[in-house]
Amino acid sequence: MARKFFVGGNFKMNGTIESVKAIAKNLSEAQLDPNVDVVIAPPTLYLLLVREHLKPGLEVAAQNVFDKPNGAFTGEISVLQLKDSGINWTILGHSERRTILGESDEVVASKTKFATEGGVGVIWCCGESLEEREAGQTIAVIEKQLAAVAAKIGDWSKVVIAYEPIWAIGTGKVATVQQAQEVHEAIRKWLKANVNDKVAEETRILYGGSVNGKNCKELAKEKDIDGFLVGGASLKPEFVDIINSNL
Ligand code: PGA
Repeated sequence: MARKFFVGGNFKMNGTIESVKAIAKNLSEAQLDPNVDVVIAPPTLYLLLVREHLKPGLEVAAQNVFDKPNGAFTGEISVLQLKDSGINWTILGHSERRTILGESDEVVASKTKFATEGGVGVIWCCGESLEEREAGQTIAVIEKQLAAVAAKIGDWSKVVIAYEPIWAIGTGKVATVQQAQEVHEAIRKWLKANVNDKVAEETRILYGGSVNGKNCKELAKEKDIDGFLVGGASLKPEFVDIINSNL
């Protein structure tokens, strides 16, 4: 089965009512490759607004969700609340949440279980730091992150993996095509060995880290790169070029 190309836009803590509305409107009016799943993740406060201004077929993601059904968890939002609001996706395990907010592999895995079991798709992020890469630990770090999530979830059909080397995020320093393909291939091999052939074959693996309208085409040609998770460039008109990488 061919994997459908997937492009996510992670706005992080950027945007205003006006700017996110404008992005949603531009995307809705743009000529987008119909063979691409497009999902954008504005700050929580703007999820519903963006949903309202996006044409059907384009999806919205939260940037995080909590792993409890409801209750006294000040500042958090639940999977049920996402579903209730027509938000069918969430990013989880972004390196900024892992490193700045202290989310462990286990916390990310637990959230991934909660979201997928509640019917919300997960853009599950993994990736190594520069120190880890230089110490030759890249694959080991990612396998540890994968093992934590594989121990918790049964249904991989709602998971899209995003490989995002931390040193490439927001730095303008994109991984080379070879570096990215090598890790993507290793992730697929790991899934084959530790989950099953079907999950290895069907799970989309996105690359993220300084993707822009210029470097996307080369990366998109690689056999194990099934799309992108885009930060900075998702706020700009070139996001459309990234969505249309394969045209
Ligand atoms: P960037 O961010 O495209 O700005 O490097 C990617 C991400 O953090 O998802």
